[in-house]
Amino acid sequence: RKRKKLTVDDYVNGVLNQDRAMIARAITLVESNSPKHFDMAQELLRRLMPYTGKSIRIGFTGVPGAGKSTLIEAFGTMLCEQDHRVAVLAVDPSSAISRGSILGDKTRMEKLSRHPNAYVRPSPSGGSLGGVARKSRETMLICEAAGYDVIIVETVGVGQNEITVRSMVDFFLVIMLTGAGDELQGMKKGIMEIADAIFINKADGDNVQKARAAKAEFNRLLHYLKPASPGWKTKAYTVSALTGDGVPTIWEVIKDYERKMKESGYFEENRANQLSEWMDRLIEDELKMSFYEHQQIKKTLPEMKKKVTTGEIPLAQAVQELMKVYRKEK
Ligand code: GDP
Repeated sequence: RKRKKLTVDDYVNGVLNQDRAMIARAITLVESNSPKHFDMAQELLRRLMPYTGKSIRIGFTGVPGAGKSTLIEAFGTMLCEQDHRVAVLAVDPSSAISRGSILGDKTRMEKLSRHPNAYVRPSPSGGSLGGVARKSRETMLICEAAGYDVIIVETVGVGQNEITVRSMVDFFLVIMLTGAGDELQGMKKGIMEIADAIFINKADGDNVQKARAAKAEFNRLLHYLKPASPGWKTKAYTVSALTGDGVPTIWEVIKDYERKMKESGYFEENRANQLSEWMDRLIEDELKMSFYEHQQIKKTLPEMKKKVTTGEIPLAQAVQELMKVYRKEK
């Protein structure tokens, strides 16, 4: 069946009318790598802009196996039953490297996916972390225009992923497990510094006591750290995605955060800063691409590298020469 060619008006109306099929097609449009879709996607986003920004954007991160999908399913289903509309997006650049994403392969959040108030979208595939994240950010805007009032962005807790997702959400929730060992403390400190809340998952059965002890330990450490959001005290909590214990607390903490940060003005300030950061990042990406795809640079770069490795010219000078080549034409 051949699909009808859609106009920007079709997309705009479809998204604003909350037509699921049209939302999916709008997201496919912004995810497209094809240059011929780019202008249309940007025009669509421009038209939808007045309807965006009204959700609460929540990041969920944790190592594989921490229980992200189980917890998001429990949390998201609870909100849907309270008449919220919940969109779950994933940022998983691993699919580009391993050809099988860490997040994507198994059937995830089946129950939530079937809920009429929920929309679950897997990670855009391919490309760099920057590319994947840019698409997810734009998808988030489409979901907001389509009336989703809670946006959850899920990511695997490895390396740079968390920092990138942190810069597109209002509230950043880190899922931890007990007994991960002291060797992880260094890594944990980094993630604790960007967290607005830490939820120690799997606090059920025999694990309850250990989870409570871990919570106390985290709270002790958090006490010494500068909070991720000024004026907000990041705390640790226990939760069980399996039994549902502590799941309502997640929403209470987030609502409390939203209220306090809106009062102080930080909420809006943070969103403005994030936009400015994203703009810088996109400019960097564009500049980089324009440099490496420059015809004369493509020719000169290998020669220059050779000259540097053989010690013929110093590295910084080689870079300056290349910049001259780059600036001359174009
Ligand atoms: P993800 O890789 O972080 O998305 O983790 P999953 O949600 O797939 O969960 C990994 C495993 O932990 C699965 O077997 C889940 O059933 C299990 N699990 C998740 N949450 C809980 C919990 O609260 N308690 C217990 N006991 N198991 C859980």
